[in-house]
Amino acid sequence: MKRALVTGGAGFVGSNLCRRLLELGYRVICLDNLSTGQMRNIKELSGNRNFCFLQRDVCEPFKAEVDEIYNAACPASPSAYQAEPVRTTRTCVLGAINMLELATATGALMMQFSTSEVYGEPSVHPQSESYRGCVNPIGPRSCYDEGKRCAESLCFDYHRQFGTRIKVIRIFNTYGPGMAPEDGRVVSNFIMQALRGEPLTVYGDGSQTRSFQYIDDLIDGILKVMAGRDDFLGPVNLGNPEEFTMSELAELVLRETGSSSGLVKLPSPPDDPTRRRADISLAASELAGWRPKVHLEEGIRRTIDYFKAFV
Ligand code: UDP
Repeated sequence: MKRALVTGGAGFVGSNLCRRLLELGYRVICLDNLSTGQMRNIKELSGNRNFCFLQRDVCEPFKAEVDEIYNAACPASPSAYQAEPVRTTRTCVLGAINMLELATATGALMMQFSTSEVYGEPSVHPQSESYRGCVNPIGPRSCYDEGKRCAESLCFDYHRQFGTRIKVIRIFNTYGPGMAPEDGRVVSNFIMQALRGEPLTVYGDGSQTRSFQYIDDLIDGILKVMAGRDDFLGPVNLGNPEEFTMSELAELVLRETGSSSGLVKLPSPPDDPTRRRADISLAASELAGWRPKVHLEEGIRRTIDYFKAFV
């Protein structure tokens, strides 16, 4: 029976991963300080005797005998990671160090959950892993962007210096059940606003783009990366390459909810990337058969059903 440690295991991605690992027969230790993670996400898992939840901060060293470490702990919504920026950097950097120390000591395989934010405001489109990014090192997003970049750097230095077994994934915008309805991200905001009959808040002119990946597709990719060749370290993009403007997303949400809400244009947040699309050629060639399967329309429908309980 494989033993996994999932940091940030009560969060959106972490809790979906914990559930899938349990289904696969793993024993799972879920670590979360509940700063943005939610107990409701892991409520149904707590009855499983292979599941153990520990309320702890990844910034504190942690010891356990595990085979795999999934380091997902960090607020990921811009409003959440910018609320306490110094804490965000600490979580990225100290969290990575603590998990890499654990991996080094135990021989566990450590997966770092990195992000498309490492590409910043990209001058290359779509973004492949060889693009080194264009990040403002002193802007309001830098706590997260630079924190995650430093975490990647630590992974590769631990690997080179100590032989630590690592994998690095770069996650593009992901959505689906388990997202916090008030987390401030665009999918949750638009759906909750549409369901409540409030205007949808489009930042800037709505022409900025993102590619949105449904959570199940991400979890499939994560498991394939973890099970892949030992010498495939990444970084590897995991995302859905279909690109949409925020105006198109707003229209889709209005259509699928049947809401009569209008749109309201609000100022664009500083350093908001204007274009982002995942180049997933590397994932497609390395992860036998992986590619996102859930189209945005279908995924948004499922997510609307999930959010209805919160209205
Ligand atoms: N956005 C928006 N309305 C909202 C929330 C976000 O138009 O209520 C825009 C935001 O400016 C950005 C995109 O949606 O261009 C994605 O934002 P999100 O916070 O979901 O994630 P990001 O990719 O910026 O980390």
